[in-house]
Amino acid sequence: MADVVELCSRLVRFDTTNRGLGDAEGEREAAEFVAGVLSGAGIEPKILESAPRRANVLARVPGTDPTLPPLLVQGHLDVVPADPADWSVPPFSGEVRDGYLWGRGSVDMKDFCAMVLSLVADGLRPRRDLVLAFVADEEDRGEWGAHWLVAEHREFFDGCAAAISESGGYTYHVPAADGRTVHLYPIGTAERGTAHLRLTARGRAGHGSRRNDENAVVRLVGALHRIAAHRWPVRLTPAVEAFLVRTGEALGIEVDLSDVDGTLARLGPAASLAENTVRASSTPTMIDAGYKVNVIPSVARAQVDVRTLPGTEEDVLATIDTLLGPGVEREFVSHMPPVQAPADSPWFTAMAGAIRAEDPEAVVVPYCMGGGTDAKAFSPLGIDCYGFAPLWLPAGFPYRAMAHGVDERVPVEGLEFGKRVLGHLLSTC
Ligand SMILES: [Zn+2]
Repeated sequence: MADVVELCSRLVRFDTTNRGLGDAEGEREAAEFVAGVLSGAGIEPKILESAPRRANVLARVPGTDPTLPPLLVQGHLDVVPADPADWSVPPFSGEVRDGYLWGRGSVDMKDFCAMVLSLVADGLRPRRDLVLAFVADEEDRGEWGAHWLVAEHREFFDGCAAAISESGGYTYHVPAADGRTVHLYPIGTAERGTAHLRLTARGRAGHGSRRNDENAVVRLVGALHRIAAHRWPVRLTPAVEAFLVRTGEALGIEVDLSDVDGTLARLGPAASLAENTVRASSTPTMIDAGYKVNVIPSVARAQVDVRTLPGTEEDVLATIDTLLGPGVEREFVSHMPPVQAPADSPWFTAMAGAIRAEDPEAVVVPYCMGGGTDAKAFSPLGIDCYGFAPLWLPAGFPYRAMAHGVDERVPVEGLEFGKRVLGHLLSTC
């Protein structure tokens, strides 16, 4: 049996830091390692570079029933930067200590990549063909990874009916009304859309000491303030509604869909899985204006991180336009529509069954991710994308602080659990 912990540790030791805007390293070496494991298992991988050293690995694991549409299993090999000065262990050591495997990427998402590799190395015989994609550049815009693969090698994904990848299938210990602790496992069935906007305010340049009613900085700040302060209305999408109803039922907590904020307040810690996805959001994040304190510039710019829910995008952008005010225009820096897959599907049932096979107490619920993943690249191909990278987590483990955080680590027991759950799913679905 291939050791999933050892494989994950090997992957963590490749420093695949992605600093964004094309500044990345190590993906080539990690891809070669992945390809080596696959070749060793008799699978023929392809390494495809979108740019020098921006390597992606594609492979196909044949199923026992070739008439079934394939399942895409995809994960990214790049990671966000880690400053060693902040960490208790060197972030690329892949050290195993105190029951945890430590290092950047250990939960996001070399853990899942290691589970897939170790199952294949063990000689996994899936029922349907699996299309495997280990991609570059997810931690930036995916333009050298998933989005490039879809644009340039679309044929590889032909016929895939569904996909699984990061952000779902992990244990959330939540208190029920009667004092029990429930093992909640959220599976991602939707993702908010991304509309990253650049605002440009224009006005009349002039001396900072003089009156100016067309000051570009003032116009920009006004627009940003209105956008940041706007209270977006609650819009319940199928994934979020199903999450609230099923979670409330499992916890014995009253769910009132006409009072979503009140319901979230009653849900306790479980609310964190829905509080960012009951409405759109618009958050100013970058600002750039002026060059001298006594000069009013003619132009001021900012960027705003806007997230939309399935079915709400047009309304949100129309509202943003009314908030901009005179002299301020917007354009997209990045624009990716929301992702939505059915929560009541044989795929969901199979994933829930695989989790319950290993944790009989599991309550498996759909949820909507607040941010985005490479599902945004694959979903336009008609593939139902699910966030399912199973992991057992002990009570109190600060999972949400792990991805992109300091001292990222994964419980060894959790990795082994995840491999077993994934093995159930891939061999039976
Ligand atoms: Zn990730």
